[in-house]
Amino acid sequence: MRVVVVGGGVAGLAAASEAHSLGAEVTLLESSESYLPPKSGWPSLLSGEAQPGPSERIDHELREFSKMGSLVAEVNVAERTARTSRGPVEYDSIVIATGSTHADPTFRGSGKKNVFIMRGYPDYLRLANEVRGFARVCVTGGGPLSLSIAEKVSSMGAKVLLLSPTGLLGQLSEVVRREVERRAKEAGLVLLRSPLDGVAGVERVEAVVASGSVHASEALIFLPAPRPNPPRLAVEVGLNGGILVDDRMRSSSPAVYAAGDCAEVRLGSTSSSSSPMMYQSAARAMGRVAGANAAGGSAVARLASAASHTFFGYEVCYGGLSPAEGTRLGIRLLEVSTPARGADLAYQESSFGPLSPTDLSPIALAAKTCLLMRKQS
Ligand SMILES: Cc1cc2nc3c(=O)[nH]c(=O)nc-3n(C[C@H](O)[C@H](O)[C@H](O)COP(=O)(O)OP(=O)(O)OC[C@H]3O[C@@H](n4cnc5c(N)ncnc54)[C@H](O)[C@@H]3O)c2cc1C
Repeated sequence: MRVVVVGGGVAGLAAASEAHSLGAEVTLLESSESYLPPKSGWPSLLSGEAQPGPSERIDHELREFSKMGSLVAEVNVAERTARTSRGPVEYDSIVIATGSTHADPTFRGSGKKNVFIMRGYPDYLRLANEVRGFARVCVTGGGPLSLSIAEKVSSMGAKVLLLSPTGLLGQLSEVVRREVERRAKEAGLVLLRSPLDGVAGVERVEAVVASGSVHASEALIFLPAPRPNPPRLAVEVGLNGGILVDDRMRSSSPAVYAAGDCAEVRLGSTSSSSSPMMYQSAARAMGRVAGANAAGGSAVARLASAASHTFFGYEVCYGGLSPAEGTRLGIRLLEVSTPARGADLAYQESSFGPLSPTDLSPIALAAKTCLLMRKQS
């Protein structure tokens, strides 16, 4: 069985490794010339907790069947061929794991010096080199990621203005969100629920404009929202343009599987309800299942869409459906929140540590954390 995996990120590497372990002849097509460290470690470059350099995480065997510098522009599902920058590659089954991309921002002054638009690894390297030179920085876009970046930048001594039109962590319950916002303010962050209008300055950033008000700033860090990035291929896509997959990571076309940020998981039975799950844990789980099934197995993914972040020493965990997704599916949700009692943990449903080496499921980790907290209190 010839299994081609497109994309060597978290999802693609998991798929290739799983398919290989089931005896498939695997070819991994990756557009970059070398493997990068996982994205979840990129923000740590800013504070110096992570050092720049190629990823060490690739198994020797995976390196052997990786074809680096192979950008897949199109997959012909009828002929079972992937068209790459280095010629066509034939397959019996294929896993698409090409991750996400970003739309270009459209605000005024986006081309000025000291505007950092965080699209990829080189942007994190550049910011890491320059961030210590700024006394006032504005951060915007990107949900939880913008909060992590703002925290890191302010810990290096800069005064940070965080623009968040929907409030911080809009998907969380009021009680958890308020606690995060309180801690952010305590740490010296200025939070504004305003959208960015633009950047002012002669050549470089001198101020940002938000809801008509001008705020002095020497740099702007803009985190564009990710969106799925599949190559051209004839399959059904979801609401956000990702390849629509079922719980076996099967697309609408036979022998085509998808995993990670480029996929959208069908929720329920209707095609109008789907969700991208842009998390490292989800990407890894989806990749394993896609790789196993592409190699002739019959694996099922039970995705909880669970995440955990620590903001200003406060661990925030959530999982399952968001209220908006529940409403889309016609489910009436009851919201229950438990703020921290004694320990610094706000708990909603389940937890996941992005850099955690453990193979435990997020739900199991959450259960373990809660049992430990109970024991300690
Ligand atoms: C800065 C940052 C911090 C994050 N922090 C966290 C975190 O703390 N916790 C968490 O759970 N998630 C985090 N995420 C999200 C998480 O990193 C992603 O959900 C995860 O990386 C998705 O994995 P993937 O394999 O689907 O995609 P990617 O990791 O993006 O990998 C896709 C791969 O495909 C390659 N590729 C793309 N197009 C083609 C093509 N046409 N042909 C061949 N190859 C191609 C790319 O070069 C890349 O190597 C973060 C994301 C970012 C950007």
